[in-house]
Amino acid sequence: MDFGLFNDQAYAKASADKNRAEDITKFLYPNDTRKQGRQLRVRQQYVLVSASLQDILRGYRKRHGNDYSFLSGEVAAQLNDTHPAMAIPELIRLLQEDGLSFEEAFLIARDVFAYTNHTVMQEALEKWDLSLLSSVCPEVVAVIRKIDARFRKEMKQAGKELSPALCIIEGRRVHMAWLATYGSHAINGVAELHSEILKKDVFAAWYQLYPERFQNKTNGITQRRWLGLCNPELCDLIASRIGHGFETDLDRLAALAPTIDDALCDSFRAVKRTKKEQLCAELLRREKIVLSPDLVFDVQVKRLHEYKRQFMNALSILAIYDEIKQGKQADLPPVVMLFGAKAAPGYVRAKAVIRWINLIAEKVNADPAVKDRLKVVFVPNYNCSWAEKIIPAADISEQISPAGTEASGTGNMKLMLNGAVTLGTFDGANVEIVQEAGRENNYIFGATVEELEAIRDTYDPKAIYEKNPVLRRALDTLVDGTFPDEDGAFAELHDAILKGASWHKPDHYYVMQDFESYLDAKLQAIRDACAPGNAFARKCLENIAHAGKFSSDRTIRQYAKEIWNV
Ligand SMILES: *Cc1c(COP(=O)(O)O)cnc(C)c1O
Repeated sequence: MDFGLFNDQAYAKASADKNRAEDITKFLYPNDTRKQGRQLRVRQQYVLVSASLQDILRGYRKRHGNDYSFLSGEVAAQLNDTHPAMAIPELIRLLQEDGLSFEEAFLIARDVFAYTNHTVMQEALEKWDLSLLSSVCPEVVAVIRKIDARFRKEMKQAGKELSPALCIIEGRRVHMAWLATYGSHAINGVAELHSEILKKDVFAAWYQLYPERFQNKTNGITQRRWLGLCNPELCDLIASRIGHGFETDLDRLAALAPTIDDALCDSFRAVKRTKKEQLCAELLRREKIVLSPDLVFDVQVKRLHEYKRQFMNALSILAIYDEIKQGKQADLPPVVMLFGAKAAPGYVRAKAVIRWINLIAEKVNADPAVKDRLKVVFVPNYNCSWAEKIIPAADISEQISPAGTEASGTGNMKLMLNGAVTLGTFDGANVEIVQEAGRENNYIFGATVEELEAIRDTYDPKAIYEKNPVLRRALDTLVDGTFPDEDGAFAELHDAILKGASWHKPDHYYVMQDFESYLDAKLQAIRDACAPGNAFARKCLENIAHAGKFSSDRTIRQYAKEIWNV
C-alpha cells in the first residue's frame, strides 16, 4: 500500500497495487473469455509456478550450494495438466541466473519434470499468445523461444519433418501441452483408455518421437474421505465382515466378495436407506427441497459440460415423463433424478442446460399426474461437501459421456465405492470399473470409441431425431413453448444438435446416437434397483468389493515408483 497516497486521503489509489496483487490468488480459474481474464490466469500460473520453484531451490541450495548436479535426483515436479507448464522455462531461467548454460539447465529441467494430461478436449488444451505471455513474464518467453529452437534443431539433425502437430511455437502462440511434453521425461494419461488415445490421437506425433516417455496412471480417490468420512455406516458394515485395514489398503475389500449373502444384502440396504434419509434431511435444511428416501436415487453429479451429457439425461427424463403421462411405464418404480453441477462462468451453453433442467424439475415436480413417481432435483452449488452427502445415497451412478471424451472420471469411483451401480458408456475409467466389477454388475450402453470413429463422417443426428417420436418431443421442448426461451439460449441448444454451429458439426457429442440404448439401460437399472430379492444389492456389493484398484494410494505409489523414482 502507498502510505503517502493514503495520508493524502486518496484511499482507492493507495490500495490499487495491493488489490491488484491480491487478485492473483483471490480465485483460481478466473473467467477467461476476455483479455483481462486471460492475463489474470497467466499471472496466476506464473506466480504460483515461480514461487514454488524458488522455494524448492532455496531448500536445495541449503544442502548443495549452487552445485545442481543432484537436483533431478532429489526433486521431482509433476505438472498437473498444462496450467503449471511455465515451470519448465521458469526453472531453466532460474538455473541460468545461477550460472548454468541453457543446455545444462534444459537437461536438468527435463529430468525434474513429468506431465500429466487430463483432457482430450481441443478447447481445453492451452495455447497462449506470445504477446500475452510477454506482457506478464517476458524473460520466460525468451526461454520458451530457446526451447522451441532446440527442438527444431534436434529435428533437423535427425532429418525429421516438423509437422504442425509438433510446433511448440506456432505462429504467435505457444502450445503448452507440446512444451510440457518436450520439457518432461514422462507424460501420462489418467486411465488406460485415455492413455491409449493420447498415443493414437492427440500426441501421436510426439509418441512417434519419444515412445519411451508415454505412460498410464489410472486416477484414484482416497477411501479416507470417500468412504471413511462420508459413510461411516458402510465402513462399519464392511468391517463387520472383513475387519479393519481397508482404510489404508483398499485391495482388502476383495475379501468382501465371498462373504456376500442375503444378510449382508439386507444390512447394505439398511445403510443405503440411512444415507438417503440423511441426504433428504440436508436437502430440506439447506435448500427447502422435499424429497422422500423411498425412491430410487439416480445421480449425476459432476461439472456441467456438454461432453458429460447432462443434456442427454434431461432428454431421458422428458421421455420418461411423457411415457408415464401416457400410461406407459406403469411398472417403473418411483425414482428421483438428482443432479449436482456448476458451469464455468463463461460457458453460456452449460448455463442454459442448468436452466433447462431446473425448468424440467419445476414442471415434473408440480404435475399431479406423475406425483410421487418421478422427481427431479437440481442441487445448487455442487461441491465436495455436497458430494459427501449425495454419493453415499446413490443407487445409480450416471457416467454417460461419449466414448473417448472423459479422460478418467473420479466421481464414478466414489460412487462405486459407496455401492452404486454404474450406468455408463465404455469411457475413461468406466472401462476399468467394469473390468474389475464385472459387466453383469453394471449397466453399460452406447457406442464404443471404434464405433463412433466409424460413423463420424456420415453421422446424421437429424435422421435419428425424425425416426424417434419420443426423442423428438423431448428435444423439441426447447423450442415449442414448453419452456420460456427469453434469450434464445434454448433454441441455440436445439440447433447445436440438429444444425451444429460455426465451430462444430451437428450433435458433436453423439446424444442422438446413444439416446435409445441409454434410455433402455436406464429404465432397466431403475427397475432392477427396486425389484424384489437381493439381486441388485448383490451388484452394489460386488462393486464395493472390487473397488480396491481405485484408491489414490495405488495411484500415488505408481507415480512414486514409475515416474519420480522414489
Ligand atoms: C469427484 C468430484 C468431481 C469429479 O467428478 P467426475 O464425475 O469425475 O467429473 C467434481 N466435483 C466434485 C465436487 C467432486 O467431488
